[in-house]
Amino acid sequence: MQILAERAKVPSARLMTESFRGRQEFTQPDSNGTQEQITLSQPISCLGVGLHSGAPVRMRLKPAPVHHGIAFSRIDRPDSSLIPARYDHVIDTRLSTVIACPHDSLTRVATIEHLMAALHANGIDNALIEIDGPEVPVLDGSAAEFDFLLQCAGKAPQQASRQRIEVLQRVRVEGPHGAYAELRPARRGLALAMSIDFHASAIGQQRYAMPLTQNRFRQDVANCRTFVERHDIEALQKAGLARGGSLDNAIVVDGAEILNPSGLRRANEFVRHKLMDAVGDLYLAGHTLQAGFMGHKSGHGLNNQLLRTLFSDQSNWRLVQDTTVSPALSAAA
Ligand SMILES: [Zn+2]
Repeated sequence: MQILAERAKVPSARLMTESFRGRQEFTQPDSNGTQEQITLSQPISCLGVGLHSGAPVRMRLKPAPVHHGIAFSRIDRPDSSLIPARYDHVIDTRLSTVIACPHDSLTRVATIEHLMAALHANGIDNALIEIDGPEVPVLDGSAAEFDFLLQCAGKAPQQASRQRIEVLQRVRVEGPHGAYAELRPARRGLALAMSIDFHASAIGQQRYAMPLTQNRFRQDVANCRTFVERHDIEALQKAGLARGGSLDNAIVVDGAEILNPSGLRRANEFVRHKLMDAVGDLYLAGHTLQAGFMGHKSGHGLNNQLLRTLFSDQSNWRLVQDTTVSPALSAAA
């Protein structure tokens, strides 16, 4: 299996599978193709460091009941409440997407976007994510290792219909220097188009578009890494950030040069990463979307503003429930 072989080359990922009994090739070709809610077959854990904190962190992904959604639990803060992975719990988007308890901003989890992207693309509706620190491990700076963890855990259909959010009219937010993010109605599924424009000639102008399916995500964007320009690193580190950053978990760009000795994984890895970020950020809607997404220079801030604008007006959207649960599950219910 290609992903297993690729992962074996990445020594930074200390994957601790609690059991591999559930490991299997997914039979669902498309994360939008299932009708039942999905959770994990079994728990699975990983160890890593936070990109900004540099601190070791252990994370455990666990099955959760129907209608639970995705939620984080800071197990190092035992009296704290769960943090639902929802757009209205986002408290910071400057360097990553950070969520927090509504009434306790110290109970927070940063850099959730790559994990959320993998959960979205794999069609995981319900999961509890236990974590013993304030930041999701960066692993290799992409979503590939989270995707691998989810494959190892396996998927379990549940006895309830899946829900999705159908976008009913165009919603658009704009940022500085021509940046924008937009959602439009679509007949099915979620399709994304992203473009970027950087002064650094190693990045320059790039565009990428794809429908969100499990296979397209895995093949085309999951392993595309986060990136930083060299001149920003010093400022980040002076601010106490990027302490866990290295050439093992980020692409470092200096003008026309890529400083990573192994170069890029894709010629347009940068825009593919930004599209993958949007897959994660948009899952903070609480369900997958039936919509077309278009972003230009759109990052975590605009992606979050887009969801806040979407949900600010009830005429923009509706919750749709898939009604065709499979006969086997209906009989078992
Ligand atoms: Zn990212």
